Amino acid sequence: MIPFNKPYLTGKEAHYMYQAALSGKLSGNGIFTKKCQAALEAKYGFKKTLLTTSCTDALEMAAILIDTKPGDEIIIPSYTFVSTANPFILRGATVVFADSGVSNPNIDTALLESLITPRTKAIVPVHYAGIACDMEKIMQLADKHGLFVIEDAAQAIDSSFNGRPLGSIGHLAAFSFHETKNIIAGEGGMLAINDDRFVERAEIIWEKGTNRSAFFRGEIDKYGWVDIGSSFLPSEVIAAFLYAQIENIADIQQQRKHLWEIYLRELSSLKDRITLPFIPEYATNNAHMFYIVCQDIAVRQALIAWLKERDVYAVFHYLSLHKSPFYHDKHDGRNLPQSDYYSDRLVRLPLFYELTEEQVLHITGSIKEFFEKN
Ligand SMILES: *Cc1c(COP(=O)(O)O)cnc(C)c1O
Repeated sequence: MIPFNKPYLTGKEAHYMYQAALSGKLSGNGIFTKKCQAALEAKYGFKKTLLTTSCTDALEMAAILIDTKPGDEIIIPSYTFVSTANPFILRGATVVFADSGVSNPNIDTALLESLITPRTKAIVPVHYAGIACDMEKIMQLADKHGLFVIEDAAQAIDSSFNGRPLGSIGHLAAFSFHETKNIIAGEGGMLAINDDRFVERAEIIWEKGTNRSAFFRGEIDKYGWVDIGSSFLPSEVIAAFLYAQIENIADIQQQRKHLWEIYLRELSSLKDRITLPFIPEYATNNAHMFYIVCQDIAVRQALIAWLKERDVYAVFHYLSLHKSPFYHDKHDGRNLPQSDYYSDRLVRLPLFYELTEEQVLHITGSIKEFFEKN
């Protein structure tokens, strides 16, 4: 069976984890944490980064940083993972679901302003498949209405909008290093802070509400409990694993893009049967995902079954959050047809570093055969 995903090890992970273990400091915010943060800040121009135990936790830090309160409204796409919504719901806010666009699953910016009310506090765009949302439009609206923008950049490492790295544009941004993402640590994430107002407090929230980090830098002479917070920082063992991945990011990205391009080339003959990924001119492709969109749910399910019979594990993706058992009766009742469209029709194909060209050709060949027969 060709799996949907296989975590890739660069070879240095165990070595760095052993170093971390022998260093005598296994808890968070040590040498490897600092190396990871410095490397990503330098490469992508984030003002400040903090490693977290997950992207979900980074979003939770963001929700705390913008002082999310009951009565606040947070605009997020319905076509996303639950982690985009949960951090705000946990702090008592109302989530207002936006629809996806027509050309790709990203938030539809044409409809965005109509969702803004005096209670709106933030917009959380999700760069689906690592392909940028229209950040110029989103930042303009945020400026005009005094809103925060928190990029859910879970899938978006090493991708950009008009030349600017994703995660460096919003006031805050959250990345994931879950084993299904391009750069991994098993479970892991990162908060990127691009607005100076949040830098100091972010570190305090990260360290359980204490000013411990400033203390260890010698900036204050004792540390104490100064704010709310939680244990958002990963251990040095996780950071050591991640550092090996960061060192190899160029190689990982090159291989993923190579495989992605083969998918595109091989499937372009099916253009009138399926929709291929759309990458706007302002966006780059970080090859996080190769997806296709089928004409309806019946074709999608038949294709997934067909591929399974040929030892290929392909999967659908999000179910619209506005229709979820948890949130449907809290949703304001608007139809979100594009979100439902992608819920029913989108299929993700295997894409991981060690996938071979032969395997990609087997997958694309099987898909072509399916559409010849159906
Ligand atoms: C993977 C993902 C998350 C969650 O990341 P974790 O690190 O598992 O918490 C959140 N949002 C999106 C869009 C994701 O793809």
